[in-house]
Amino acid sequence: MDKNHFHLIIIGSGPAGCTAAIYAARANLNFAMITGLEPGGQLIKTPTIANWPGEPEEIAGALLMEKMMDQARNLGAAILSDNIETVDLAKRPFSLKGNKAEYTCDALIIATGASAKFLGLPSEKKYIGKGVSTCAICDGFFYKNKEVVVVGGGNTTAEEALYMAKIAKLVTIVHRRDTMRAEEGLVVQLQKTPNIKLELNCNIVEILGDDRGVTGARIKNVNTNATQDIVCQAVFIAIGHKPNTEIFSKQLEMEHNYIKIGYGAATATSVSGVFAAGDVVAKNYHQAVVAAGLGCTATLDAKAFLAVLNLK
Ligand code: FAD
Ligand code: NAP
Repeated sequence: MDKNHFHLIIIGSGPAGCTAAIYAARANLNFAMITGLEPGGQLIKTPTIANWPGEPEEIAGALLMEKMMDQARNLGAAILSDNIETVDLAKRPFSLKGNKAEYTCDALIIATGASAKFLGLPSEKKYIGKGVSTCAICDGFFYKNKEVVVVGGGNTTAEEALYMAKIAKLVTIVHRRDTMRAEEGLVVQLQKTPNIKLELNCNIVEILGDDRGVTGARIKNVNTNATQDIVCQAVFIAIGHKPNTEIFSKQLEMEHNYIKIGYGAATATSVSGVFAAGDVVAKNYHQAVVAAGLGCTATLDAKAFLAVLNLK
């Protein structure tokens, strides 16, 4: 067998990829997991995770992902440090071109995750993990009785704001238009929530802070250009997520750039032998435990597919 041919390749090393690898190793499959540029995935960016089952004490995201990678490695997983640039799913074996090598495989699990969209401000980058967050469910707990800002005007923004209103003293939504884009029902709930305030027609132009983290947000009115500083201890960026699916576009059926699954098996995509798991498919469920569950499902689906080909 060619050195870079595997029965199964898993692209991505976040919770979905690592869980897929753990199950593949336990099933004794001939496989490799390709880590990508962010070994461990999105969770390595978050200092504490309080909702991972079985970790009653908070655990650092980097430590949790190190443990998952170690578990896969200890079980015998081949973990390859490479980033896939192009794929050809038109025929089997599938071909993958990475920065370092080329690969072929009979079955593929895509677990490339999704990236939260950011505003693109240098100050935003500076305070990631120190008050700037893209996940209220994950980080909201740390801002109990504090003042927070949520940016955006969509359903995610509304849901993040409603979630934070139960925890924080005051939630200010900063949205660049004169009306929210979120659906009517959510907008009504926002209006009915006394500790949610709207700053419409405004963009955040700078996130303010000191050594300890965020202390405020400077907003600018799009009509008048007037600026104003809002005091807050956290800024939740809720302007949408971008699934990492560019390299698969035009080769797999997608919906809003998320890979569509459920073609026969739960994680099967529109191309036979290609499976997908995690944030790359879970449009409304961006949670590590969901990604891990789907990673497990994808390996079970891939294993059944390989068994039909007599490849174990
Ligand atoms: P990811 O974790 O995004 O991993 C994707 C992997 O794919 C990475 O390893 C990357 O390197 C790799 N990859 C991407 N493209 C390529 C390519 N072309 N070639 C090779 N590899 C590639 N969820 C919770 O449940 N609890 C929390 O407390 C929590 N906190 C969060 C805090 C922050 C700041 C963020 C951003 C998210 C948080 N989440 C939390 C959400 C959680 O991180 C995601 O739901 C989860 O990481 C998704 O896992 P995944 O494996 O699908 O993808
Ligand atoms: P979205 O609908 O694309 O909304 C993103 C919001 O962020 C928009 O208001 C947009 O402003 C704003 N925005 C985007 N880029 C920005 C920038 N650079 N600076 C400032 N503001 C910016 O994204 P989403 O809310 O994440 O929703 C994505 C999809 O998931 C939608 O189909 C949504 O319906 C669905 N969803 C559904 C639910 C639900 O049903 N409960 C919950 C969450 C998500 P503009 O308005 O100016 O474009």
